[in-house]
Amino acid sequence: MLIVKKFGGTSVANKERIFNVANRCIEDYKKGNDVIVVLSAMGKQTDVLLEMAADINPNASKRELDMLLTTGEQTSVALMSMALHSLGVPAISLNAFQVAMHTTSVSGNARLTRIDKDRVRHELEQRKIVVVTGFQGISRYDDYTTLGRGGSDTTAVALAAALHADACEIYTDVDGVFTADPRIVKDAKKLDEITYDEMLELASLGAGVLHNRSVEMAKKYGVQLVVRSSLNTSEGTIVKEEVKMEKMLVSGVASDKNVVRIALVGLEDQPGVAFKLFRHLANHNVNVDMILQSIGRSNTKDISFTVTEDMADVAVETVERHRSGSLKCQEVKVNRNVSKVSVVGAGMQTNPGVAARMFEALYDANVNIQQISTSEIRVTVLIDREDTDKAMNAVHKEFDF
Ligand code: ADP
Ligand code: ASP
Ligand code: MG
Repeated sequence: MLIVKKFGGTSVANKERIFNVANRCIEDYKKGNDVIVVLSAMGKQTDVLLEMAADINPNASKRELDMLLTTGEQTSVALMSMALHSLGVPAISLNAFQVAMHTTSVSGNARLTRIDKDRVRHELEQRKIVVVTGFQGISRYDDYTTLGRGGSDTTAVALAAALHADACEIYTDVDGVFTADPRIVKDAKKLDEITYDEMLELASLGAGVLHNRSVEMAKKYGVQLVVRSSLNTSEGTIVKEEVKMEKMLVSGVASDKNVVRIALVGLEDQPGVAFKLFRHLANHNVNVDMILQSIGRSNTKDISFTVTEDMADVAVETVERHRSGSLKCQEVKVNRNVSKVSVVGAGMQTNPGVAARMFEALYDANVNIQQISTSEIRVTVLIDREDTDKAMNAVHKEFDF
């Protein structure tokens, strides 16, 4: 069997944890399996590196940031390989160049495009445990790239897909996927199983337990995932196409504080305005999330949308640049004090009333809703950021997991 095991930052935060991971890998290896281990940077090392960069230059280029951040993962794979050697097991660490993990050239948010399989296969054939850097790739210009925060999960799934692994296990610091972030909602419950679609929604809406692109890729290539704790041997959560259980009305609640709302007030009410706005934003690689357009009145309309914090400045600059040209509007309002809270569940496709129950729970908790968006299997509201945890708990309680 070929097993891909991915361990996050807390799971390799110190010497003891590194040896704990090494031993878990050796257990599988000694049963005759081929083992690939994907690692994140130790502990909060990525944050530490980002702080160091900001201290030197608050406007550091994304290319240099990637160059810096990739050292985090490189440290952990080298140390892990040394730990395995010290336990008498053959192992080799490989970075994105050595594997070759090709990505697009978008620094800080690159997408994996192709993985060379020869080197990894060769090392596995030598009966080595192969320890691979998560989160990083190389661009067509031979520059390091990174896949976005939390991106090591995606590295693991991509390797599992490319090499047709028999199992892909994501080890983290909680026991699996819960009905809400267990650090925010104390009585959140662990799920035994969840579908790709529900997990994708939860991950995209702020449930940081899995990188959303890892779920997207797992679904695309049919890679079944197990999310479990690196600190105990409990069973974890299986992420797959269909689940055995009857579809749950709501499978989870998620929140995301990484949101900024931008509103263009008093736009001309003519065809093509939305097209021009979102085309300009797309040209600057700005990913737009919740979009709201008001009903036109006296020949004007308003459009508001949300973006992630790191994209807010680019988005505002883009809008301002076109204000005197193709995007005539009276005012541009920016609100950085917002967050999103969402409920997700495949069961809501056939059961009306989920949105009403969510809104009632928010009303009872005295939380004001600024904007709403929905899909077949989710309802999202935009609220004041300071209400986030209160809203999460109120909504979670309403659905009585
Ligand atoms: P790792 O470093 O292992 O990748 P992350 O910090 O990226 O770990 O992800 C694990 C964290 O995700 C947990 O500590 C938990 O606080 C958070 N989390 C958010 N939503 C959920 C959820 N629905 N279920 C489980 N954990 C969640
Ligand atoms: N080390 C990276 C981060 O902190 C990638 C990861 O942990 O998945 O975002
Ligand atoms: Mg993570």
